[in-house]
Amino acid sequence: MLLKFLTALLLLSLMQCFEKHTDIPSYQERAEQLMKNTALIDGHNDMPWQLRKRVHNDLSAIDLKTWNVTHTNIEKLRAGLVGAQFWVAYVPCNAQNKDAVRHALEQIDVIKRMVQMFPEDFQLTTTADGITEAFHSGKIASLIGVEGGHGIDNSLGALRMFYELGVRYLTLTHVCNTPWADSSKVDAGSVKPGVNGLSDFGKANNSGIVMVNFYPNFISCNGTATLSQVADHLDHIRNVAGADHVGIGSDFDGFDRGPIGLEDVSKYPALIAELLQRNWSDNDIKKLLGLNFLRVFKKAEEVSRQLQKINMPSNYIIDQEKVQRPCRTFLGYPSAAFHHP
Ligand SMILES: [Zn+2]
Repeated sequence: MLLKFLTALLLLSLMQCFEKHTDIPSYQERAEQLMKNTALIDGHNDMPWQLRKRVHNDLSAIDLKTWNVTHTNIEKLRAGLVGAQFWVAYVPCNAQNKDAVRHALEQIDVIKRMVQMFPEDFQLTTTADGITEAFHSGKIASLIGVEGGHGIDNSLGALRMFYELGVRYLTLTHVCNTPWADSSKVDAGSVKPGVNGLSDFGKANNSGIVMVNFYPNFISCNGTATLSQVADHLDHIRNVAGADHVGIGSDFDGFDRGPIGLEDVSKYPALIAELLQRNWSDNDIKKLLGLNFLRVFKKAEEVSRQLQKINMPSNYIIDQEKVQRPCRTFLGYPSAAFHHP
């Protein structure tokens, strides 16, 4: 009898032990739980460029919920637990000094129309608080960035009007130099240096964030990359700059084939699971997902408020000789102006 009792006790404790074991959430489950509470903010998605290339920005030609020729559609964004997305108005370098501003405007237009078309899924926002608000109401916060400094055609007036339209970042360059910043092609040796990095006008500052791009050619030397190699880059930035300065700016739909394991926007939880497996703490994961970006964005908003109080809008005029645009008209501008307020 005692033996039977002891055997039953042993079996019971074994079962409890087994149950306890199965209660431990998998890395994937932990990743999903974290992403349900902290918005993943991706800094860069080029799906609007695919809209231009493939359907000439005609949104009625496709169903964005299920469109499957791209890395991005609404079903995949939902599966990937994306909380906020910067949609990119990309302007190719061959439009520089030609009709770059028009291209940027048309891409901003298609992003806005796309967001309006799916009010259940997208919410246009221009602020850090707006991201949090949209996330809590179950929407994918949608923001606009312009890719390629040449998109403003050397005009701060154009830049201010992009801001009015809701644009919240402008990349300094794409693969062509501007009069205020050299592009990465200079490092690669295929473009001559212009200002050797940034000009005084181009200079930005401090406490920012590096948002890792998944483009396989940036991730690996042989053009084929894996999820694990993307995690290596994130590890490296965390080691070098600290957990407060790392984020995600995937560039999905800005390249053809994604890293193995990170093929489209539905795969983010797998990347987060990989980092958990590498012993990233929950706090570091939350910073990576979005807290770092929100900190930087709030700081930029604060600086913007301060500047608006103190200064009149800048009248800085880029040296027209550096603009190199033979068909540009200079109505109201000195022909070779270099005027600093
Ligand atoms: Zn891009």
